[in-house]
Amino acid sequence: MAMKHKVMIMRCENYDSEKISGIIQEGMEKLGVRPAGRILLKPNVVIAHPEVFPHAFTRKEFLDGVISATKAKATDVREIAVGERCGITLATRWAFENAGYREVIKKHKVKAYYFDEVRQVPRELKEKNALRKNIFIPEPIAKADFLINLPKFKAHPWCRLTLSLKNFIGIQDDRHRLVDHNIFLEHKIADLQEVIQPKFIAVDAIIAGQKMMLTPTPFPMGAIVMGTNSCAVDTVGCHMVHVNPKDLIHLRYASERGFGPMNLEEIDVLGNFPLREVQEKTRNFEFCMEHIDSYFGAESNLRCTVGTFPEKHSPDYCWGGCPGALQEAMHIFKAHYPNVNREMKKVRYVVGRVDGPIELEEDERVIFAGDCTSWEGRINGDPVKIESRYRAPQEVDEGKTKSNDMLLKTWKTLWNCLRHKNFRYIHARGCPVSVGDHVHYLSAIGKIPNVNFDPRMLVPVNIAYWKMRTLRALHRLIK
Ligand code: SF4
Repeated sequence: MAMKHKVMIMRCENYDSEKISGIIQEGMEKLGVRPAGRILLKPNVVIAHPEVFPHAFTRKEFLDGVISATKAKATDVREIAVGERCGITLATRWAFENAGYREVIKKHKVKAYYFDEVRQVPRELKEKNALRKNIFIPEPIAKADFLINLPKFKAHPWCRLTLSLKNFIGIQDDRHRLVDHNIFLEHKIADLQEVIQPKFIAVDAIIAGQKMMLTPTPFPMGAIVMGTNSCAVDTVGCHMVHVNPKDLIHLRYASERGFGPMNLEEIDVLGNFPLREVQEKTRNFEFCMEHIDSYFGAESNLRCTVGTFPEKHSPDYCWGGCPGALQEAMHIFKAHYPNVNREMKKVRYVVGRVDGPIELEEDERVIFAGDCTSWEGRINGDPVKIESRYRAPQEVDEGKTKSNDMLLKTWKTLWNCLRHKNFRYIHARGCPVSVGDHVHYLSAIGKIPNVNFDPRMLVPVNIAYWKMRTLRALHRLIK
C-alpha cells in the first residue's frame, strides 16, 4: 500500500516566535524534514503596511520562528535566505520593510532575495497540459536545494483560497507575473508546480484572512499547518474551511498531473488541533466568490455588465483576471472611504464580449476593462466600437513581455485617463488590468481620491522603487 502523505495541524493562538519555533521544530521532526544546503524560505508578502494592509502577509513572528527552527534542525547549510516578489510594480524591499522582515533578517544574519532585483531564468515545462514550453523563475529559486514555503492562510477572490500551491505566483518579476494571470491563472499555478516543489510547508493560519487577498478580514484561526507536499497541505486547508478540494481548481489540476493527493483518505492528518474542531471554529469563515455583476449591490454607484469570455474552459466568467482585480481595488478604496460605493460618481464597468445596447443612466460613465472586451453601439448618440485584442497563451511569447515598470505603467494609465477626461467612456487595456490600474481608472472615472497616492505610502514606495531599480541594474552589470 502506498504511504500516506502527512499533514499536521497544530494549535497556536498568538504570534509568539519562540512558541512558533518549537511547533515548527516538532513538525519537522514528525515529518522527517531536515533542511540542508541552500535553504530558501518563501513567505507571502503580496503587500504589507501596518495601517493599510495589516493582514495580507505571513507575519514577521512566524518567519522569525521558522528561521530559528530551520537553524536548529538544518545540516550542511550553505545559505539560509528569505525570498519573495510582492505584488507587482511595488518594490519588494518596501513590502519587507513594512512587514517587519528587515529586523528578523538582520537578527538571524540570513540573506534577503528580492526577486524583482535578481535574474529570472527559464525552466522547461514538459507536462502535456502546460500552457507553454518555458516558464521564468528567479535564479535563487532555481538554485535552492531546500525550499520552504510559508503561505498565509487566506481566502482569495480569484481562486477561492491561497495556500501552498498559489503562493508560488508570488515569485515572478513584473515582466512575467501577468503572463497567464488571467482566465488561465489556475492552469498557471499548476504549471509552476512542475518546476517548484517545496520540501517543507508551514502555513501561517494563526490569524487567517477572509474574503480578499490584499485587504482580508482577519479571522483568528489559531493554527499552524505543516506538510511536505503542496497538494496534501492544500487539501487539508480546504477541509479546514469547508471547501471541497475539487472546487480549488488549481489543486485539482495539480493533483490530476500527479503532484499529490486531493483526497483526505490519502492523507494522515496529525497534530494537536483535530480537523473537526477547526471546522467547528470556521463555520462562518467568509469567502468572496460572487460575480461582480451581483457583488456591489443595488445601492452602489458602481454597476457591472459581464459578457462572455474567449476561452472554452470558462466562457461565462474570467476568474483570475479583471473582475477579481476590480473587487480588490474597490476594497482598497473602502479601507480609506467606507461609503465609496455610494459616494463615487456613477460608473458602469463592462468586461468581456457584450452584445446589444448597454442602457446607461444620464450621468453614468463607462470603463471597458481588459483586452478581451468588445462592444459596439452608441453612447451619447455617437457610434462606439471597442475591439478585442485578446491573445491566447500560445500567442504570448513569455520571453518578450512588457517591463510593467511602476512609473511607466502609472504614467501610461494616467495619460489614458487624462485623454478621456471629457469622454463618457474609457478603455482600460491589459490582460489582466492590474489592481493598481483599476484604482487609477476608478479614481479618474468615479471621481474618488486616488489611494495609489496615499501620502503614508507615496514617498517610501518611490524611495524603494529607485533603490530597486539601481540594485537590479547593478546585479545585471555584475553578472
Ligand atoms: S482581459 Fe481581463 S477579463 Fe479578459 S481574459 Fe484577460 S484578464 Fe480576463
